[in-house]
Order: sequence, then structure tokens, then C-alpha cells
Amino acid sequence: MMMDAIAVLNAGSSSIKASLFAQTGDALALTVRGQVEAIHTAPRFIAKNAAGETLSTHAWNDATPLGHAGALDYILTFLHDRLDGLHLRGIGHRVVHGGLAYSRPVRVDAQVLSDLEQFIPLAPLHQPHNLTPIRLMLERRPDLLQVACFDTAFHRAQPEVAQMFALPKELHDAGVRRYGFHGLSYEYNASVLPRLDPKAAKGRSVILHLGNGASMCALSEGRSVASTMGFTAVDGLPMGTRCGNLDPGVILYLMDQRGMDARAIEGLIYNQSGLLGVSGISSDMRELLASGEPRAGLAVDLYVYRIARELGSLAAALGGLDALVFTGGIGENSAVIRQRICRDAAWLGVVLDEQANQTGGPRISTAVSPTAAWVIPTNEELMIARHTLQTLPIV
Ligand code: ADP
Repeated sequence: MMMDAIAVLNAGSSSIKASLFAQTGDALALTVRGQVEAIHTAPRFIAKNAAGETLSTHAWNDATPLGHAGALDYILTFLHDRLDGLHLRGIGHRVVHGGLAYSRPVRVDAQVLSDLEQFIPLAPLHQPHNLTPIRLMLERRPDLLQVACFDTAFHRAQPEVAQMFALPKELHDAGVRRYGFHGLSYEYNASVLPRLDPKAAKGRSVILHLGNGASMCALSEGRSVASTMGFTAVDGLPMGTRCGNLDPGVILYLMDQRGMDARAIEGLIYNQSGLLGVSGISSDMRELLASGEPRAGLAVDLYVYRIARELGSLAAALGGLDALVFTGGIGENSAVIRQRICRDAAWLGVVLDEQANQTGGPRISTAVSPTAAWVIPTNEELMIARHTLQTLPIV
């Protein structure tokens, strides 16, 4: 008998990642994961199996840029060859912004796609790229079910005050509000926490998603009640190249006194700020930690400081804290960043187990620590595959 399968696509500005999950009942098992990186410059493809062993690599030597369409074609052909004995039931796509209307995964047709295009100005780094493979697949394989899964959806049930800016209410009603992002990562983490820490899962936790993009989410009983990102994914923590929280007066100053227009400011706050802007060296945390330059140290200091302050704010929104959860590239891999954040969180009852932190946990707080600290590797692709499976029509 043929086994069913779900494919997941996560398309960014310069890469497309794809995964294939085989389905047995409600269980989904990763069979292969591949990605084309640097699609506009020096494209290269790598695919690995579930054990992390390399199955296939490819590099393009000619000068023709591959672009999203070319990268998608390559990935689809690769996936098709791996489908041997599997029946593809649908494709799940990561879409950063679902706006006001989309608070759960949705089957995409031409109308939904056109709705989602309205959110491009709210997520200029991500949304256009997320939508490109959906558009191409609707043209090429209209028979195949496609599901959009949103990074905003997990936050849509936050209390109204947590979603509000103190702007005239009419703007709030028109959708100018705090949405929050990284929801697929938070939802995955919230699905793992009950096994590790049932008390915290039923109580109050803060998840720190620290990757190139970074945000934090306060959860009560597994549901999002507040987050550091707002209307767009440039808000909140400093990130690789994004500035995070910024006094809106700075934007006015840049316009009036420096003559910058919206595009120039967009470039500044999305691409030239954060760890890169402060250090002047790199957006990559590994490089900054390895550098002896004072400006690299300053960028890391500011990063940790701002996380510590936001943690206080989110703990206040929760009225206390039972657990901290680290995830994302930095959260999962950097013992020193976790150590510094936990040290700053001592007043919230976090007692770090240095040894466990060095070896990566999962529990990195001591047995007597009043507030627990955990490391949970995120898995947004699996979350998308689960949603896609649940959105498929029952056959
Ligand atoms: P994305 O948000 O693009 O998915 P990741 O979640 O992979 O990115 O996170 C990338 C970040 O993780 C980079 O800043 C990288 O330097 C950092 N990182 C990865 N491994 C380590 C490590 N061992 N120590 C410190 N930082 C690390």
C-alpha cells in the first residue's frame, strides 16, 4: 500500500527550504530535507535524510541567476524523485503574515493568494518570497492542495490590550496593531513543553526564539499572551540586521533632518542595523563571539541587555514565571548567550546548571531552581506539516 506524504516549503529572500514527511495515521516522519541557498548569486543545493546524512548536493556554475522559479523547479524535481512509494497529499507553506483575517492555516486558492499579497508591505523581507512558490504551484499543479501556515496566527488570540498601540482606535480597527511573529516556532515549542515540564506548560513561560530574526513570547497555559514583535517583524529585540524597538521619533528625525525616504529607512532598520549595525563587523553571532573587537562585544552586550529587559516586561504581563525556553540558532547553540541571559534572570528565580548548559540541556536549570530553563530545538517544518495534515479534506 502506498504511504501518504506531506511536503513543506519555506521560501525566504535568498533560499528555499523543502521537507518531505511520510504519514502514518497522525504521525509524521521526516524522510528528506533539502535547500537551495544563495539563489540569486552562487546557488547551491544540499539534501539530507532524517539522520542528517547528506543525500545529494549540487552547485550551479553558470552565471545565470537561478531565482525563485529555477530553485523551486530543482527542488520539486528532487522531491518528486524521492516520492518513490509515497503519495503526495499536499504542500504546506510558511507565510509570515496572515493579517487580521487569517488566524489559522488555510487552503490557498487565487482569492486567498490575492488577500495575502496585501500584507507584503507589512513584511517586505519575507512575505513576497513566501508567496512566490504558492503562486507558481497554483499555476503548475492546480490539482495539488496547498496550505498556508502563518507566523502571526498563534498570537491572534492575545488579549486585546496586548495587541494595541496607543493610537486612535480607528487605526487599530483597520488592522494597525501588534501581530507578533515566529508563531510556528512557538507553537512547536509549546507542543513539546508538556512532556518536559508539565507544570510550566500549564503555567507561565517565556520562549526566546533567537535566530537571525529574534523575538520572545509569553505563554499562559500554552497560549500566546504577549510578544516582543508587533505590526512588523522589525519590532522588539535587536536581531542580525534589524534594529528592534525604536522610538518613532527617530524615524521622524531621519526624514526631516537626514532627508531619508521610506525606502532608505526601510534599508536602515531591516538590513543595516541590529548586531551588524552596532558591531560594524557581522550579523552572525558566532563571528561576534569569536571577535576580540570592542564593538563586537558592545553589540553582544546590547543584545543580552535588551533580552533581559524584555524578559522583565513579559514576566510582568504573565504575573510571574515558571519557565524560560531557548530556541533558534543562537538559543539552541550558544551556551554563553544562554548563561548571560540566565544570569540576568536570577531575580526571576532562574538558577543555571552550568554543566547542563554547556552540554545543551534540555534542562539547563538546577533541580532546585524555582524557575526552570530549557533548550528545545525548534521545528517549524514539522509544525507546518501537522497543520497541513489537519487542513486536508478527510478521504
Ligand atoms: P534563521 O533565523 O535564519 O533560521 P538560525 O535560527 O539558524 O537563523 O540562527 C542563526 C544564528 O544562530 C546566527 O547568528 C548564528 O551565528 C547563530 N549560531 C548558530 N550556531 C551558533 C553557536 N554555536 N554559537 C553562537 N551562535 C550560533
